[in-house]
Amino acid sequence: MHENKGETWDTCQEILDRLPSPAVLVDDDAAIQMHNHAASQFLSPDPTFVYRRKFGDALHCLHSASGCGNSAECQTCPVREAINCSRFGFTQVRLRCELLVVREGQSKRIALVVTASPLKLENGILHLVVLESTSEGFHQRHFQPICPLCKRIQIDDGCWEGLEVVLKKNPRADLTHKLCTECRSLYLGHGDRLP
Ligand SMILES: [Zn+2]
Repeated sequence: MHENKGETWDTCQEILDRLPSPAVLVDDDAAIQMHNHAASQFLSPDPTFVYRRKFGDALHCLHSASGCGNSAECQTCPVREAINCSRFGFTQVRLRCELLVVREGQSKRIALVVTASPLKLENGILHLVVLESTSEGFHQRHFQPICPLCKRIQIDDGCWEGLEVVLKKNPRADLTHKLCTECRSLYLGHGDRLP
C-alpha cells in the first residue's frame, strides 16, 4: 500500500510481494513506506492504518502504548537496532529476537530473525526489513550478541570482548547482531539514554 510514486516504486512492491516472509520498507525512524502481502499477517489488517505508521504501532507492539519509539524499551528494540545498523550501511545484519505484541487483548511473544538492509531509491535511502519466523525455542538457545561495527562479542557478564578471544573459548557460539554500548553511543549519540 503506497501512493503512486512511479515505476521503481511499483517494481519494488512487486519484488516485496514475491518474498515469502513479511517485509517492510521503512525510513530511519521505522515509519512504514511499503509492506508486502506476507506482512499483513503481522501488521494491522487495515492497510490505510499501516502506511506511514511507525513499525511498532502498526504491529501493535506491547511497548508502543505511548507511540513507537517513545518508551524506554524502544531504545533497545531489535527492529530499531537492525534499522540503525542499516543506516550505517551494514547490509547483512541479522538479529534473533522476540517481539511482544498485543493480539486480541492478550500479549503474545513472536520469535523472529530480523534482517535489515539499506535500499537506495529515487527519494532517498529506505531500509528493507524482513521478518522471518523462527520455530526454534528462543529461550532454549543462547545467542551471543556480536557488534556489527567493532566486531566484539558480548559475554555473559555484559562486557564486550574481541571476536578471537570468544571464539577460541567457544568456537560454536550462536551469534546475533547487537550494537555495543560504545558504538551505540558513538554512532547514535544517545548513550546517555541507555538503560
Ligand atoms: Zn561495537
